[in-house]
Amino acid sequence: MHIEDYKRVGDYERIVRAYDPESGLKALIALHNTRRGPALGGCRMWPYKSEADALRDAKRLARGMTYKNALADLPFGGGKSVIIGNPNTEKSEKHLLAMGRFVQSLNGAYTIAEDVGTTPDDMSVIRQETSFVAGLAEGGSGDPSPATAWGVYQGILAAVRERFGHETLKGLSVAIQGLGHVGWHLARRLNEAGATLLVSDIDDKKMAEAQRNFGAVPVSPYRIYDVSTDILAPCALGAVINDDTLPRLKAKIVAGSANNQLAEDRHGAELKAANILYAPDYAINAGGVINIYYEYCGTYDQKTAYKHIAGIGDTMESIFKRARRLDIPTNAAADHIAEDRFRALEAA
Ligand code: NAD
Repeated sequence: MHIEDYKRVGDYERIVRAYDPESGLKALIALHNTRRGPALGGCRMWPYKSEADALRDAKRLARGMTYKNALADLPFGGGKSVIIGNPNTEKSEKHLLAMGRFVQSLNGAYTIAEDVGTTPDDMSVIRQETSFVAGLAEGGSGDPSPATAWGVYQGILAAVRERFGHETLKGLSVAIQGLGHVGWHLARRLNEAGATLLVSDIDDKKMAEAQRNFGAVPVSPYRIYDVSTDILAPCALGAVINDDTLPRLKAKIVAGSANNQLAEDRHGAELKAANILYAPDYAINAGGVINIYYEYCGTYDQKTAYKHIAGIGDTMESIFKRARRLDIPTNAAADHIAEDRFRALEAA
């Protein structure tokens, strides 16, 4: 396998590329900031059109993990890996084993986990070549989605306290966009807490099931931004808060699991101007990575992990408090708190 460092990496600590002629693996690992600890971040497999596209994505995702891990109060820095290829047609055991050797070559500076295009089963294959892997199917913490949903639920409770001054969800409505791994578990928790649910998915069967199980009202995907609801929980796609959707929103809170919900940073300020409270995505959806951290520490104990994840409610409160105090958008307040945490260590 050929492994080489990129020379010009800006404010990234290290970016490495690998090419393995035998398996055909082409992959990159980007380490953004490891002051809080070794980098932990998922591995995305995607049919990037060029290496430049893959590099851009690896850098963006690695930086995001620095912020996410800091806000989640984990002793980890930010890093991410990408494999160039179609996960449905190009992934093979040889590929994954080569990826394991690539991760091992960094001697623990980076720990790999699942992301879009990779699975807990893939991590179990990678485990044959490196111990710097988390989120395993067997003997690990397994599917992170229930943990992510638990964190989102805690974040929603904090947002409801902030925006409405309510301690419970009784009498409030939540519109969930996407009833996938996270959305479904979230729907269950919200239903148990007495919220009224509106649900939307491109899969009609999932909507019918939510109607049966939770008495949820199905909404067609293109109407979800227009419904009268207290809370909108995006749990499907990124960039759903944009110039088209924002003026249509009736919700007073946007809080869900989807990554990169704001099409652009300025949409955070525009939500604030519209008096819609935004729970920053990378803070509210950190339950999965916190869960993985407890697996990484040794014997996984769900109770301890879930206690830490419940702290997402407190993190959200500090974000809202800072945003109020400085009169800034919540996404900017979240960035400030994360930067305080990793920059304080840089200065030490
Ligand atoms: P998933 O693929 O299991 O679910 C996504 C769901 O959204 C599917 O049911 C899909 O049919 C539906 N969907 C797709 N397009 C839609 C549309 N236009 N309108 C309505 N529904 C649509 O994914 P997931 O694991 O549940 O993750 C959901 C989001 O949360 C993603 O953005 C993911 O990156 C983010 N996230 C997930 C985790 C996790 O632990 N799984 C952790 C952090 C962030």
